[in-house]
Amino acid sequence: MTVKITPLGGVGGVGKNSFLFETGKTGILVDCGLDPAVFAKGDNSIIPPERLDILDDAMRRGVDIYSLLTHYHFDHIGAIAELFARGIKNERIIMSSWTSSFLYLRQDSLGIQLGDNPPWKIINERNRSRESTLSLGDFRVTPIPLNHSAYGAFAPLMIGGGRKILHLTDFKFWGFLRTVRDNGIMRDGRDWFEDILRKVRGKNPVDCLLLDALNSDLAGFTPPEEEVVKSLEGIIREAPGRVFISCISSNLQRIEEIIKMLTRLGKTYAMVGSSMRGSFSMLKRRLNKAGAGFPVRDYNEADVIFITGSQGEENAAIQKMLDGGEERLPEFLSDDWFVSSSRVIPGNEEQVRRSIIGISRRVAKVIIHFGEIAKIGLPVGVAEERFTHVSGHDQLGGLGKVLEILEPRLVVPIHAPWDRVAMFEKAFGSSYNIRRLQVGETLEI
Ligand SMILES: [Zn+2]
Repeated sequence: MTVKITPLGGVGGVGKNSFLFETGKTGILVDCGLDPAVFAKGDNSIIPPERLDILDDAMRRGVDIYSLLTHYHFDHIGAIAELFARGIKNERIIMSSWTSSFLYLRQDSLGIQLGDNPPWKIINERNRSRESTLSLGDFRVTPIPLNHSAYGAFAPLMIGGGRKILHLTDFKFWGFLRTVRDNGIMRDGRDWFEDILRKVRGKNPVDCLLLDALNSDLAGFTPPEEEVVKSLEGIIREAPGRVFISCISSNLQRIEEIIKMLTRLGKTYAMVGSSMRGSFSMLKRRLNKAGAGFPVRDYNEADVIFITGSQGEENAAIQKMLDGGEERLPEFLSDDWFVSSSRVIPGNEEQVRRSIIGISRRVAKVIIHFGEIAKIGLPVGVAEERFTHVSGHDQLGGLGKVLEILEPRLVVPIHAPWDRVAMFEKAFGSSYNIRRLQVGETLEI
């Protein structure tokens, strides 16, 4: 028996992630995401993976489809309506409780309507006991826990057709505070993940590793999130007035840790924008447990204001503030500082540039992440650069470590533009068998 692997989207760029793995009468569809650059334009356009027709073909041939959603970022789950439209639901869609909560929160923007009972199956991705292995037709699938900028993210380890396949996307060795809770003990995130990979390797190397090559332009390991929060703390201490922090509202971990830091400093904060308030509602229980303060309603009473619109989205709070006339929103004051704790998604440069220039005319200082001035093409003097963001994806150091431990027979680079894939090939091509797959191209192993 063999396994057929087909990207339906999610190679040669960022977004529309969706991969079909097929053996016997079973198909596993990993993720069904949208194009984040188009979605961020603000018209909520959902562009699904390009080749869902291949999924339709498989279903017509009588293949039983199961879908695993690795985590709640929209480039992985945003086209979930396409699964429902094909009758895939209930026990056949599998995700973590975090992804489930996020889908409930954002159902309107994703064009789905959910009742009280979720039409999918929820798994505990942190449980690596034998029970957590799922029997899905001709595959046995184990969700491998990992660190990413989304809670509950996992990598599906699929065994079927006599092959062992790991779909490892959107991960990094160090999460927050470099540490991970493992059976009640705090461990270094890198050691923890190395152990997990060694267990995945076991006696047999992985036959095919699909690997996230996004940060192949950067050496070393992705720094821990705590460095961003430390840097933001310095900025908040230094600022004469309020500090606006704009980040992607799904970055729950970062928002949580900033709020804990603010509580420690005795600072107040407010949340602007419905998606930012939604993120807060998902964190409420955790924040309560940690003794963290809740947001204030009056923007003038807040030391820090979390706000959406870091990608220059037309209908996000920042743009509405720049346009004016909305009473519910705060106003930028001349001694405010504005910090962007994100990076521009390729394709959004123009709208982000316009938005940053607009903000810089209203506030005392605009701070963005290192390297962003050139990327966005900002004129001199508009913004200054500090350390305000880390990626959710690991860099060449982390990717090399994964390869060294797993010793995969074949590597398929995913989740990256082709120029990054070329850098990945340059770094590892002499030691590993790397194979590019185009959207819609099938590899049989
Ligand atoms: Zn992600």
